[in-house]
This record gives sequence, structure tokens and C-alpha cells, in this order.
Amino acid sequence: MKVTEYIEAAESTLFSFEILPPLKGKSIQSIYDGIDPLMEFNPKFVNVTYHREEYIYKEKGNGLLEKVSIRKRPGTVGICAAIMNKYKVDAVPHLICGGFSKEETENALIDLQFLGIDNVLALRGDSIKTETSFRPDPNGHSYAVELVDQISDMNQGNYIMDDIKLEPTDFCIGAAGYPEKHFEAMNLKTDLLHLKNKVDAGATYIVTQMFFDNKKYFAFVDACRSIGINVPIIPGLKPIKSLNHISFLPKFFHIDYPEELSTELLKCKSNSDVEQVGIEWGIEQSKELVKGGAPCIHYYTMSNSDLVKTIASKIF
Ligand code: FAD
Repeated sequence: MKVTEYIEAAESTLFSFEILPPLKGKSIQSIYDGIDPLMEFNPKFVNVTYHREEYIYKEKGNGLLEKVSIRKRPGTVGICAAIMNKYKVDAVPHLICGGFSKEETENALIDLQFLGIDNVLALRGDSIKTETSFRPDPNGHSYAVELVDQISDMNQGNYIMDDIKLEPTDFCIGAAGYPEKHFEAMNLKTDLLHLKNKVDAGATYIVTQMFFDNKKYFAFVDACRSIGINVPIIPGLKPIKSLNHISFLPKFFHIDYPEELSTELLKCKSNSDVEQVGIEWGIEQSKELVKGGAPCIHYYTMSNSDLVKTIASKIF
């Protein structure tokens, strides 16, 4: 079933979460261990992130270096299939532009359709460590809107490779939104116009980057509505877990902590102090979002379900 259909049918705010494929070498059980504690909150769908290959340079012994591609995490498609099979919930794979040619994207989408996956979160992806800015595959997409376009085309029955006649797909397409602006955008207004382009191209719901100040989410929703973005906007929340997170999250995700939260974080001396603040903040944020009519709350577990469980148990 489509994410938008779940939202339309819901009488209250839905619970959903996102998992990160484990580092390679682990088994599917590590995914189940992360999902099991959250199933009691009745998620209708579970997102699975996608991680690009990285490149390293290996000494060849003759003074030359060889560029080698490495994958740190197993593929998203297999994990989605396993989740759907075990839990009978919809899995939402993240699909990115980076590292994919248009043909590879088409093949990936054909695989997803084959497995009965109805939803895709269409993203651009970030630059890899060896690049200073995002570089698309020579025959790939530069922006998420182009990926949304390609999926919409397939939904119309228009495939790039027309060697055999294929039926139209019927993917529900999600896109990313940034209440505090995407870090590359010139300003919030242009970022919103680019977001509108994704919706006009066929994205039927939005999931936001994590934020810690609900005022920014509500202002973002208002700004979206004012320019004609009328699709559901799912807020993304991440419970802060450790002393390391205090500086990591703003740096990596380009988000700010509101003053009230930073004051509390400054008092923390240990990871468990931070966890406590993270839980309390997450509960208050969630309560206010539910009250404010959020269609669903999307929790970023980042391989840690325990805090999300504690927060969700007070909300759902
Ligand atoms: P876009 O919508 O393409 O936007 C990227 C930037 O380009 C923005 O600044 C936008 O304003 C600008 N822009 C858009 N169109 C144009 C244009 N035509 N001309 C000029 N500028 C333009 N990354 C992963 O690698 N794997 C994941 O699984 C993953 N999951 C995510 C889930 C969520 C909910 C979110 C919010 C992000 C996720 N990301 C993931 C990170 C995401 O890939 C990065 O934030 C990336 O930098 C931008 O992706 P996007 O889809 O928002 O890109």
C-alpha cells in the first residue's frame, strides 16, 4: 500500500521509522533486532536508507595507486524484501541519484516493482568523501527532481530501455524537505521552489530532515502551503544519544539546536545525561507535532532503536 494511502486512511498521527543497513559482515538478524522493539507501535511502513559505494586508493606495490570501489553496507532492496516478508509491513527503500546511471536506476526500480514494493523515497544523495561536491554519474541524474521525473515516467509506462513491452509501474514517490534549508541552497525560498519542482514532477509526500525546533517545521509547512505544495509533510525526528552527537548532528546535518535545548545539553557530563535530555526533548517534540496535526512522525533510528522506543511508548 502507498504511504499516501496510509496517511489518508489514518485517524491520528502515524508512527514510522528509518533504519540503516548494518555494516557488511553482519546478518539480517541485526536488522530484525532493531525493528522488533518498534513493532508494538504499529508502523505501517519502514524506511531503509541507501548508501553509496566509496572509493579508496590502494598501493599497487610499484609506486602507483589503484582506485578501488568498496561497499560498506549490504544493498537496500534485499533488506526491504526481508522486512516485508517477516513483518508484513511496507518497506520504503531510499533510491539515490549518486552512482546510478539512468539505466541502472530503471533496473533497480524494475526489481522493486517485482518485489511488490509500492513506495520509493527519491533522493539525490551526497558527495562521496573523495569529492568536494556532488558529481552525478555521467549518464545519471544531477538532482532528485530528475529521478522523480524518471519514476513518474515509468508510472506512465515510459521506460528508457524499450526492448520488451512493460506495464506502467505505480510507485508512490516521496521526496526530502529541509525545514532549515538544504545546505547547498542559496536560501530557503529557492530551496522551497526546488522542492515544489519535485512535487510538480510527481512526488506525493515529503519527509523532512531532522530538526529540533518544532517552530521551524510548522513554519516550513506554512511556507510550503503558501507556494502550492499541498502534499503531506512528514516530520523527521532524531533523539540525541551521546556527547558526540552534540556537535556531530549540527555539523553533519546542517541543523541548529534551539537555545533551550543547547542550554540543557551544555549541562550534560555523560552519554546517559545526553540520552535523558534527548528522550525528554523527543517526547515533547513528538507531543507537539501530534497536537499540531503532523500526518506521521518519522524517527531516524540510525541503528539505535532504544531511544525511539522510549519516546514512542509515550506517544503511540
Ligand atoms: P535535491 O532535491 O536534488 O536538492 C539538492 C540541492 O540542490 C538543494 O540545495 C536544492 O535546493 C538544490 N537544487 C535542486 N534542484 C536544483 C536545480 N535544478 N538547480 C540548482 N539547484 C537545485 N542520502 C543518502 O545517500 N541515502 C539515504 O538513504 C538518504 N536518506 C535521506 C532521507 C531523508 C528524509 C533526507 C531528508 C535526506 C536523506 N539523504 C540520504 C540525504 C540527501 O541525499 C542529501 O541531503 C542530499 O544532499 C540532497 O538530497 P535531495 O534529494 O534533497 O536533493
